[in-house]
Amino acid sequence: MTTKVPIVENILSANEQLAVSNRARLDAAGVFAINVMASPGAGKTSLITRTIEALRETHRIGAVDGDIATTLDADRIAAFGAPTVQINTGGACHLDAVMLQGALPQLPLEELDLLIVENVGNLVCPASFKLGVHRSVLIASVPEGDDKPYKYPVMYRGVDGLVLNKMDVLDAFDFDVDYFRQGVEALNPGLAFFPLSCKTGEGLEGWLNWLRNEVQDHVPGNPGKDR
Ligand code: MG
Ligand code: ZN
Repeated sequence: MTTKVPIVENILSANEQLAVSNRARLDAAGVFAINVMASPGAGKTSLITRTIEALRETHRIGAVDGDIATTLDADRIAAFGAPTVQINTGGACHLDAVMLQGALPQLPLEELDLLIVENVGNLVCPASFKLGVHRSVLIASVPEGDDKPYKYPVMYRGVDGLVLNKMDVLDAFDFDVDYFRQGVEALNPGLAFFPLSCKTGEGLEGWLNWLRNEVQDHVPGNPGKDR
């Protein structure tokens, strides 16, 4: 008697196929890439410029900045000396793999160690579009409130690192860090967590150490995370 072996076809969506090809391209060039997501105003651009400032002596860094209309953030990042490509999404509220694919040839990939992608400010759909990067990072901020993990579970589930920015104003807000972390732990146990202030610089070292280690430990071509 013969047993029929079912053929499982892994049918990837068009976006996922392009994400795989973006990853291959980054790996071929030896670039470690992260996707930075957050709601508008949480401090994506501030964290990115702080990061470039701190790591530019040891890492060759490039950036991709996704924005709905303006080049304001891309200009801020480029001012720190990192090659930066602006993606104007023309109204779309997230980046996708096609957009990143279009940006990569405009960067000197062979000369970079780290590529930081700033997604469009939005806590909903960026979580559903893989880009082909190696890690995803979410930035929350104190003024947004401590209930965000409960309201946006998909976003909190799919990331590898969580920054809580604007800790310098914690006393002025009714933000319960324990309640916030309980919500995060339920969705993403053991998630790397970095409470910090981009304004004062307090807490930045924890984030920078994590990122340094992620870049250093990365083995190109390793299937690893699927982001
Ligand atoms: Mg920004
Ligand atoms: Zn969207």
